[in-house]
Amino acid sequence: MIGILGGTFDPIHFGHLRTALEVKHALRLNEIRLIPLRHAVHRDQPETPARLRLQMVNTAVSGTPGLKADDRELRRDSASYTVDTLLSLRDELGGEEPLCLLMGSDAFKDFLSWHRPLDITELAHLVIMTRPGQSTVANPALQQLVASRLTADPAELHTAPGGGILFQSVTQLDISATRIRAMVANGDSPRFLLPDAVLEIIEGEKLYL
Ligand code: ATP
Repeated sequence: MIGILGGTFDPIHFGHLRTALEVKHALRLNEIRLIPLRHAVHRDQPETPARLRLQMVNTAVSGTPGLKADDRELRRDSASYTVDTLLSLRDELGGEEPLCLLMGSDAFKDFLSWHRPLDITELAHLVIMTRPGQSTVANPALQQLVASRLTADPAELHTAPGGGILFQSVTQLDISATRIRAMVANGDSPRFLLPDAVLEIIEGEKLYL
């Protein structure tokens, strides 16, 4: 079973890395693909060139078995729709491999406004990363989707390629890429919020100044 964590990764930080590792262990995933997006659909476009965001992700995961950078969205010159990314992963991995699409509970709140959300839920399981004890869903339509697909047992996810929804509590580190960019712009060091090797790239390329 393979996990997928998409994001701008501008830059990647310990909030991403720690949660990826915790979910990998909790769900017994063989690997997690960290997939930097090229064109954002739901947010402002990243200013940092895709090549450098990918380099930072590669550097951050090197030495951690099972965490991998995946550049498929950067090779595509169109909007980064999750459904297309999953279809492309299905082309590579076949229809049977269980896939888990990881997302924070904030992203999940808007899930039904994504492009082809029901196709997404067929192509992969949804793993919603939450604070301990926080798994409530306010939107009634989303509640219905959750009720029909919810499982609390990671072993169940291993028995089907997709279709399940699982809430996974993870350690929440209050780190955001926005804050790291602001610190650098301000002349403050973001050291210890992200890997030193990523900080070296930021400094070498004079990013976020
Ligand atoms: P920005 O501040 O630029 O919006 P970000 O730090 O939220 O960026 P993204 O690359 O947009 O980072 O995030 C990719 C994914 O990682 C999203 O699903 C997001 O919910 C999750 N994520 C981001 N920061 C954290 C964190 N501190 N802990 C857990 N998950 C996180």
